Amino acid sequence: MSAVESSFRKATRLQGIEMSMIVQITEAARARKAEGADIIALGTGEPDFDTPDHVKQAAQEAMWAGDTKYTATAGTAELKAAVREKYRRENNLDFAANEILISVGAKQVLFNAFMATLDLGDEVIIPAPYWTSYLDIVKVAGGVPVTVTCTADKGFLLTPDQLRAAITPKTRWLLLNSPGNPSGAAYDRDSLRALMDVVAEYPDLWVMSDDIYEHLVYDNNAFVSPLQVAPELRARILSVNGVSKAYAMTGWRIGYAAGPAALIKEMTVVQAQATSGACSISQAAAVAALNGPQELVATRCAAFQDRRDMVVSLLNATEGISCLMPEGAFYVFPSCVGLLGKTTPDGRTLATDMDFCTFILNSADVAVVPGSAFGAPGHFRISYAYAKADLARACRRIQQAVEQLT
Ligand code: PLP
Repeated sequence: MSAVESSFRKATRLQGIEMSMIVQITEAARARKAEGADIIALGTGEPDFDTPDHVKQAAQEAMWAGDTKYTATAGTAELKAAVREKYRRENNLDFAANEILISVGAKQVLFNAFMATLDLGDEVIIPAPYWTSYLDIVKVAGGVPVTVTCTADKGFLLTPDQLRAAITPKTRWLLLNSPGNPSGAAYDRDSLRALMDVVAEYPDLWVMSDDIYEHLVYDNNAFVSPLQVAPELRARILSVNGVSKAYAMTGWRIGYAAGPAALIKEMTVVQAQATSGACSISQAAAVAALNGPQELVATRCAAFQDRRDMVVSLLNATEGISCLMPEGAFYVFPSCVGLLGKTTPDGRTLATDMDFCTFILNSADVAVVPGSAFGAPGHFRISYAYAKADLARACRRIQQAVEQLT
């Protein structure tokens, strides 16, 4: 080790924070692909559809019109207006301009909010299974994630009793994500209202509602958010959203927040020292996405529902795998508990979901993510934001690999 390398010291705040299991599986899949294997990777959570043409066009026009300079830290007036209009049109909610923040993806919204509000040791209640980044962002911000296990028999949803039991004097936030990654579970109006009734009893408890999958709700169900069911709690609810999933714009990195002005102000302070305003061209593109025709969103949602139905039925036809029907997002989160303890053709015992996913990668050439990465061992996540033919092939391969287990 060189002198330069040996003097490296990782900050204490990064202790226990590593690249996620998702990255590990993705790397393993990439290595197998490089060896020539025909890998079907179902690990990543981004739509396979392209960004709509009119959005790309708007970006191009913005660039040539000289829209290439720093923007206001909290976002351009045009995008903030488009976001306010979106909340009015789709959620029947009115926000003032100083209640909106534009960030570099929904991820930065979450980061800003936790950095702006958490003191060392403050707690954030996070229902499990959860999106992997939640825990790490809370930890980087000095907070303590308090995970609450939500089981498949309760539809992977948090119950009011579980919420109440998790609240302590140190709790600052309840973080909800509906429809959720990785389970696809969504709260209906009544179950959300029951949670908000508990929140109402604790005046210092705030709610962060990650609504990024708002437009991916199936079976003609309507999206509902804490703000809609509990408008009286508006002074302590932050809505987190973005254009990544709804408009197939993951790479453009535009997210937004709507919430109390005092919080938005401090989140803007955090952002000012991290990135300043989001990319000017991406902001112009997001204006076109939010203000433009919305039919494509519904068409794509119907395509996702069709894929969901196929994947769930193929997986449930596989001995030892059982899969709930997700209400939204583009993930299925089946149990592989029925296969743990079984032996692979080369004599290995499958002890954990990680073992199962490694077996599936090596025997079926399909990359899926272990449930442990999301705080739910005994499961695995498949993203169905891929071509239907690939999904069908992947499910068949998984079935064939599982049939080899004894
Ligand atoms: N929230 C959830 C639940 C997600 O699954 C993701 C991305 O996978 C994000 C937020 C991040 O979205 P963005 O691309 O806007 O940062």
